[in-house]
Amino acid sequence: DEQQWFDLNHCINTTLTMVNNKLKYICKVEKQFADLPKVFFNLGKLTQVFTNLLMNAGQAIEATGKQGVISIVTQREGNNVKVRIQDSGCGISQENLDKLFNPFFTTKPEGQGTGLGLSITYGIIQEHGGQIVVSSTPGEGSLFEITLPINGQHD
Ligand code: ADP
Ligand code: MG
Repeated sequence: DEQQWFDLNHCINTTLTMVNNKLKYICKVEKQFADLPKVFFNLGKLTQVFTNLLMNAGQAIEATGKQGVISIVTQREGNNVKVRIQDSGCGISQENLDKLFNPFFTTKPEGQGTGLGLSITYGIIQEHGGQIVVSSTPGEGSLFEITLPINGQHD
């Protein structure tokens, strides 16, 4: 497919520029980016992953009715890169955490969410040989943690 070498921090920044129109009214974005080697992934698909996660984080903050914070941290760990996206949004109940990556799972009102964002995200991370883990404290926020092998998956 269309894997290429690119700068992951730059990919996140580009995504932020695209979603900024919505996020700027809802929250502050804090970035803590490590010096990362270039990664070999599908750039379009990774952009889709960050778009999904950032839009969800924005919507979770919006649901609190208060200003919030999204924090994005990138890190290198051996042959992996890690991206942590944390929000101060409404959080996710234990019951919903179990269903989060299922296709069509949504808590949004009819017509407002497809429930496909996270299942697509999960699939993309799997295709790249990575993992995505979520944790949350309802009322405090959520953390999505992605681990990806720098070389991607050559298939
Ligand atoms: P959609 O956004 O269309 O509902 P997603 O697959 O992107 O579908 O997300 C599924 C559900 O997971 C959302 O409806 C929401 O309940 C929950 N969710 C996802 N991300 C977050 C988040 N950052 N904070 C709180 N809930 C979240
Ligand atoms: Mg979504």
